Amino acid sequence: MASQDEKPSIQSRHKVPPSKSGATAMERNDPLKVMKIGSRQKFVIKDMENKGKGAVAVKDIEEGELILAESPLFIVPWWVRTSPYPGKEVNDYILDRLSLLSEKEQASFYALSDCKCSVDEEKSEMGIWRTNNFALGRSSKKCDNAIFIAISRFNHSCVPLAEFHWNTDLKRQEIRAIVPIQGGQEITLCYVTSEVLTKSKSERQKRFWEHYGFECACPDCQLQGPRSLDNDAMRERVAQLERKIIDLIYVEVKTEPSEGDSGDPNNGDFEPEQRLSRSSSRVAEDFEEALKHATERFRLMKRLGFKAVSLLDACSMIVDIAYDVPDYRTAKMFCKEGLRLSKMLYGWISSQYKDWEERLSLVQEYQNLSKTISSYHQNKASG
Ligand SMILES: [Zn+2]
Repeated sequence: MASQDEKPSIQSRHKVPPSKSGATAMERNDPLKVMKIGSRQKFVIKDMENKGKGAVAVKDIEEGELILAESPLFIVPWWVRTSPYPGKEVNDYILDRLSLLSEKEQASFYALSDCKCSVDEEKSEMGIWRTNNFALGRSSKKCDNAIFIAISRFNHSCVPLAEFHWNTDLKRQEIRAIVPIQGGQEITLCYVTSEVLTKSKSERQKRFWEHYGFECACPDCQLQGPRSLDNDAMRERVAQLERKIIDLIYVEVKTEPSEGDSGDPNNGDFEPEQRLSRSSSRVAEDFEEALKHATERFRLMKRLGFKAVSLLDACSMIVDIAYDVPDYRTAKMFCKEGLRLSKMLYGWISSQYKDWEERLSLVQEYQNLSKTISSYHQNKASG
């Protein structure tokens, strides 16, 4: 995360022995190399006004286009982070990983920002880690986290133009455009979960400052006066609708965060781990009302520019509720939206895209079946 002044330095509080790895690892993690997808580089890393470095598109990029695919510099497994002494163990683990890297790779790590130290302080490995690590996949207690050199240069926006996704098959973090991006525009990512995005501008700013040490200057954080208040109200409405849906048809099952989760900025943004289970005492009207709330929530999230992964979750929820109503027309509409979003975020050669294809064909079968049954009953009644 390029939120602070860059102080490229390989001076460390801890002496890291020279690399034991060969050229292959260095090539794999060379940020200049990973920036190129195919033969054409799609962005450059530039000094940005008032916010360190950032990624700028060098050409127009289409929605869903792969911008970058990068292998981790190193991974810290979840069980290290949740050990009885997480701070110490993570620190030791990082030092050990660093010792296995080439000098060039170590230099690229130490060039990353550390929002945990002040200007006159020396950066620490733990500070750099805490400022820059990404969850591999959905942020949860049992997810691994990793450092990516090039991806760390992409700045945050509450209205991001691109989104990252951990490709478990290829073991690389991929960034795809979630809206059309024009050449010259800064390519931004959203660092936080949808839960954080439902907070007001001042609450979000407080969180960014405390966790990452930057002030967000995205279009929505720059709104002033009534437009800012309207934006806050829309975000609050998303959270309110979610609570209403939960009250109507779910029972909340709380999962306790582990001790090791509290110290890590990214881990403070856990997506809830399937903490909802269906209530057994709901009636047909509850589903109808929940479906209305869920579709309104989805439209608001889309309008506010929430991440595609959050929109996909919202689509899934709508399809599930629509089956219970049952309202196959709505279920089909949101399966199509799920298909569009999964293609955009994961590409069409992905298990996620295949899943949505299957969901769409299943809902079509249900819809046809329900039409056949209702016409049978109509014929019976009239004849
Ligand atoms: Zn913002």
